[in-house]
Amino acid sequence: SIDFKWIRDNRVDVAANIRNRNSNADLELVLQLYEKLLNVQKEVERLRAERNVVANKMKGKLEPSERQKLIEEGKSLKEGLITLEEDLLKLTDELQQEAQRIPNMIHPDVPVGGEDCSVLRKMVGSPREFGFPIKDHFQLGKDLDLIDFDAAAEVSGSKFYYLKNEAVLLEMALVNWTISEVMRRGFTPLTTPEIVRSSVVEKCGFQPRGENTQVYSVEGSDQCLIGTAEIPVGGIHMDSILTESSLPLKYAAFSHCFRTEAGAAGAATRGLYRVHQFSKVEMFILCRPEESDSYHEELIGIEEYLFSSLGFHFKTIDMASGDLGAPAYRKFDVEAWMPGLGRFGEISSASNCTDYQSRRLGIRYRPEASSTNPKKGKGNLAPTQFVHTLNATACAVPRMIVCLLENYQQEDGSIVIPEPLKPFMGGLEVITPKS
Ligand code: AMP
Repeated sequence: SIDFKWIRDNRVDVAANIRNRNSNADLELVLQLYEKLLNVQKEVERLRAERNVVANKMKGKLEPSERQKLIEEGKSLKEGLITLEEDLLKLTDELQQEAQRIPNMIHPDVPVGGEDCSVLRKMVGSPREFGFPIKDHFQLGKDLDLIDFDAAAEVSGSKFYYLKNEAVLLEMALVNWTISEVMRRGFTPLTTPEIVRSSVVEKCGFQPRGENTQVYSVEGSDQCLIGTAEIPVGGIHMDSILTESSLPLKYAAFSHCFRTEAGAAGAATRGLYRVHQFSKVEMFILCRPEESDSYHEELIGIEEYLFSSLGFHFKTIDMASGDLGAPAYRKFDVEAWMPGLGRFGEISSASNCTDYQSRRLGIRYRPEASSTNPKKGKGNLAPTQFVHTLNATACAVPRMIVCLLENYQQEDGSIVIPEPLKPFMGGLEVITPKS
């Protein structure tokens, strides 16, 4: 449930936040709809009370003419209520639609501004020096018979691909190695549904409809293909009250991800960098509010460990307000050096969404009463609170393959497999050109 009263009471800060985040949310409209809704609610309550008075009067002894008058009154009250209740439903729906677009507030340390204002947190490694002319992953994929874009273009369209031969092993090794690393850190592995209800997509803070939507809809249904496992994982505990002792819940979900990439035409690069379908392992944490900042640090730490283990040269960035998705309170991106591309490219992002998703998804927990938390509610139970949710990419396969092929290419055109992946590829040390 979105806290409209809070939004109304903090309208100046909320408006500034919408501006800082370059959001298209319409705060004025939300506030107008909210006022309207409150008025209609009041009117509904007034009519219900009047109807009760009439019903009570009917219980007594009455002259037939008086009874008839009350019947008429009751009838007209009932008709008025039906109309108002219909208005209430419509208004609630409209308000929810508009309010979904209001972005989360930001962490006080988030740099305010556009992409250029993002702040470097950490730089790891340095670009590998090649003593020979290098190829990009597109060329390497072709020469080593690892990726087929041409057949995929015929079968599916542009921005699709077949992985072949050792590239298939590489995808599976990346996924299995990542899952085993995060399981060691207490994450529960999951595979998820990849078609979900549009309402869940919305509650996670994504817009399933509209001109520039990133979401593919399933025709003739209220369902969508997922753009990230964050959505089905966020939905697992929808409309529930968790016990405090069950927190934090840590998941690592493998799924395919589907994205329209609408509006990304200019940014499209050849090859695997921006595609419509890809595999990903996503970490997702549900925790107590006071712990979300520290779990955010834990998530970025895991990402840094994974990318360092693979020997990547990368930087982590505290993203500026204009570059955060609506649900994120703070977002750390990782960009890795891609030699064939000749620049850094984003390979992962870790977001603290605080209670933005949990409010919409209805995920609460009940704090256990203790000496430090003596607050008790009805029946000696502490009042429920919304959990905080966080999500972070552990391994988005295509850009990892870009990094691996481009960074580990040798002069003879072969690719060396980095140490951590070898056991997951049956001990394969190097991908060599097929004769
Ligand atoms: P996001 O969920 O948008 O933060 O994306 C998480 C990660 O998925 C990114 O850091 C990329 O590594 C990867 N990714 C996102 N979109 C695409 C795409 N269209 N093609 C390939 N990889 C992608």
